[in-house]
Amino acid sequence: MEPGLQNLLSHYSHEADRALIAKAYAFAENAHHGQMRESGVPYFDHLVETAKNLTRLGTDAQTVAAGLLHDTIEDTTTTAEDIQREFGDEILFLVEGVTKLGHLKYQGLKRHSNTLRKLFVATAADNRVILIKLADRLHNLRTIDSLRRDKQVRIAEETLQIYAPIAHRLGIGQFKGELEDAAFKTTDPEAYHKTLELRELKKTETQEELEQFTAEVLRALGNAGIDVVSIDSRLKHLYSLHKKIVGRKLNIDEIHDIAAIRLIVPSIEACYLALGIIHASWTPLPGRIKDYIAMPKANGYQSLHTTVFTGDGAIVEVQIRTTDMHATAERGVASHTAYKEKKSLAKAQEIDELRTLIDMPKVASRAWLKELAETETDSHGEAYLREIKDDFLSDRILVFTPKGEAIDLPVGATPIDFAYSIHTDLGDMASGARVNGKFVALSTELHHGDIVLIETTKGAKPSPKWLQWVKTNSARKKIRLALGMTES
Ligand code: MN
Repeated sequence: MEPGLQNLLSHYSHEADRALIAKAYAFAENAHHGQMRESGVPYFDHLVETAKNLTRLGTDAQTVAAGLLHDTIEDTTTTAEDIQREFGDEILFLVEGVTKLGHLKYQGLKRHSNTLRKLFVATAADNRVILIKLADRLHNLRTIDSLRRDKQVRIAEETLQIYAPIAHRLGIGQFKGELEDAAFKTTDPEAYHKTLELRELKKTETQEELEQFTAEVLRALGNAGIDVVSIDSRLKHLYSLHKKIVGRKLNIDEIHDIAAIRLIVPSIEACYLALGIIHASWTPLPGRIKDYIAMPKANGYQSLHTTVFTGDGAIVEVQIRTTDMHATAERGVASHTAYKEKKSLAKAQEIDELRTLIDMPKVASRAWLKELAETETDSHGEAYLREIKDDFLSDRILVFTPKGEAIDLPVGATPIDFAYSIHTDLGDMASGARVNGKFVALSTELHHGDIVLIETTKGAKPSPKWLQWVKTNSARKKIRLALGMTES
């Protein structure tokens, strides 16, 4: 058996899954027979590598098969009917979702935004479409060197602006970091290598300390009777390290999470116990304790973070989470599309227990994907791109209604954005806002975790000033509408 196929099959035990993957493998190999990539390697390699990326996310066999077939309709003589006949409707849907729109090569931005929109529409119907696209993009970036420089830059920039933020919002931490670092290497090679050097230096400096600290943490937890599923250290990805240094004008020595200890424990209770033990043994750095278990990040990420003085002058970040939270942090939505057979009763119970414990609605709602798909493409590709970047792919915060319903907004959003994202009428009639119980101006920037109450007055109307205060294009459109202004 070919090693590529063997590798893919090693992740699947069911006979039907293995047969499906083997069939798609043979089909794609045959369809792309004789085709070469610009680098001179067989085109088929790209399909195998895309499929391997998908197995890393633990996706189902259908997704892996569609990953193998994703370029057949566009780049070979294979037709949609062929795929449908051989593999059925489900796989055809996944393959067509990733297939670009037609072969019109020179429509520029307009074609580009149409392609994106089509991808979003398919993704809203089935998350697995975007997983295939991300796996495809990841391999394209890794083999980008053989392309023309201008093409390299276009692909890398598009990755930083569109695909990495999507991976982030979907909670696929593993892909987000890899996509960013691969693109960063192309967009700014100098900064990339400088950051890499800095990180290496710091890593060598701290390696021994980290190992010793890890051993001490294990001992302290063992003494307290806390089981540890695993403990390891991770290095911060280069692009996020670079952004932190440049964005906050920090010196490398002021960044304490270049290397972090990652502690996986069996239950939520054990997370908090472990945090207590660690704080009892090492002094925490003030202001660095984050409870993302009770207050998850907008993309569903959960973990406890703390930064402690190790005692010999070093400062280390510690992340504590359960096995499930770890899967969600690395694989995001993909962890929900994984094998159904793996979802044991115990796991379902733990999720329920978690939800009651923190009394919070399910954060990881994917309503935004539907909204994204419904955003209209206008005739100007650029406006469309700007709109989806601002409204959907920027950094996010979660704020809450007084009843505890979580509302997901871009960083910099104001109570007006909040009101319009709940209901158009609430936005139109807003006359004031209370944030965490205090009256604030409608132009006030909201922060992660704020509780927001909108005061309304019957017959109130938006003010033209609001157009400068809102962050989301959807709110801006609704204000214009209420003011009777025409578009743009
Ligand atoms: Mn491809």
